Amino acid sequence: MTYDPDYQRAYRESHREERKAYRARYFQENKTTIYAATRERNRKNRSRVNATNRRRYREIKADPDRWQLFKERQRRWRLGPGANTNSGIRRRKRIRLKLAVLTRLGGPRCVRCGCTDIRLLDVNHIGGVNANEDRRHGTRFYEAILSGVVSSAGLNVLCRPCNILDYVERKWPELAGTYALSWTPNGREFTAETAKVVSAPRVSPDWARWPIPRAKL
Ligand SMILES: [Zn+2]
Repeated sequence: MTYDPDYQRAYRESHREERKAYRARYFQENKTTIYAATRERNRKNRSRVNATNRRRYREIKADPDRWQLFKERQRRWRLGPGANTNSGIRRRKRIRLKLAVLTRLGGPRCVRCGCTDIRLLDVNHIGGVNANEDRRHGTRFYEAILSGVVSSAGLNVLCRPCNILDYVERKWPELAGTYALSWTPNGREFTAETAKVVSAPRVSPDWARWPIPRAKL
């Protein structure tokens, strides 16, 4: 059969529903493969994907109408099902994860000054970060430590200020021992003990679990 654009178009139009159903079925049956391929493609073309996204963002921002719509969509998205992303559940999960990591590295306590406020405690690379160090940070870094992907051998627990002093003393060795840090706790510390209270499961009222409908634009 020779290619006949009119015939093709007529066929597409008369079989609209069948084609739609076929595509939906094909997607459902091959979902795993399709998602994996998409992830792999995005990973391979990371810099191009990022460049395209940045370009689109700039284009949208340059057009007042589209920018208005974009902001409105973002606002609705934040109120929609994604609204819970920074809710107590995630926050408590993050605290538990951080506590697990700090415990693995010798306990939730700064090894230099003894600070126990876990908000201030950080994972420190002993001797500084190498050039070829794992670049993960945040919860990904924590998970990598717990799973053993990142060795905990070169890590310890320091508070933020001590972390900075550690860096300063590495950069200017003659300053070593010049600065000492002392804390005068005022009872508002956020320690492993008080964090446990925070991380206790909290039953939310029934209405809080109702989904907020996401408006169609
Ligand atoms: Zn400290």
